[in-house]
Amino acid sequence: MHESRYPPASNQQFAFVGERLWLDFVNTDETRKGARLDMLADFESLVKWLNAAAVLDSERSASIRRRAQQQPAGATAALTDARRIRSALRLLAERGAMSSEVSSNTVVEINRVLGRSAGTRRLEGRADGAFVRSFVPVGDAFAGLMIPVVESAADALVFGELPRVRSCGDPRCHRVFFDNTKNRRRRWCDMATCGNRAKAARHRERAKVTTLSHTRTPA
Ligand SMILES: [Zn+2]
Repeated sequence: MHESRYPPASNQQFAFVGERLWLDFVNTDETRKGARLDMLADFESLVKWLNAAAVLDSERSASIRRRAQQQPAGATAALTDARRIRSALRLLAERGAMSSEVSSNTVVEINRVLGRSAGTRRLEGRADGAFVRSFVPVGDAFAGLMIPVVESAADALVFGELPRVRSCGDPRCHRVFFDNTKNRRRRWCDMATCGNRAKAARHRERAKVTTLSHTRTPA
């Protein structure tokens, strides 16, 4: 878990626009053109995402892939569990600030994950001179995979961040994000996609109004 280095750069496959690890994880359940698109289609996609999110480095990704080949049933169970956690975290993101029931249910879910895995916390120096914290699970390698994600959600509760967690202003988009702008008026998950579409729609609206007023003929 590399708090100080968050967010990582978005790549072609995954977008990191949520400003928080747990929200970007929620956003792996995407909606594109009205259709649901699960970015975590299989266990390999989950490993790829964790690697892209800097939760797993290349070495640990390789070792978890080897483990998945040896224990395919364990990998499938880990994927099912990850999706279950994601649904709970989506509820927390969308309704946690309004509903104490949602947040207390999520606490149970978070503690379920935190309570089942033992591991070692480490501080590591990187080649570029920066330091990162990491969690190395012992025993069941799959059990520890979601720990950094749920810890990020736990931080949101501890630091009272939920009131600033928002859904994208485009009703067709289901992405969530933490609004860390100064004026707290961030509306779009991403200016490059939803923000731009909204701008283009406003522009078309204006153009239509102008055209109408020009084509109006006297009665
Ligand atoms: Zn959006």
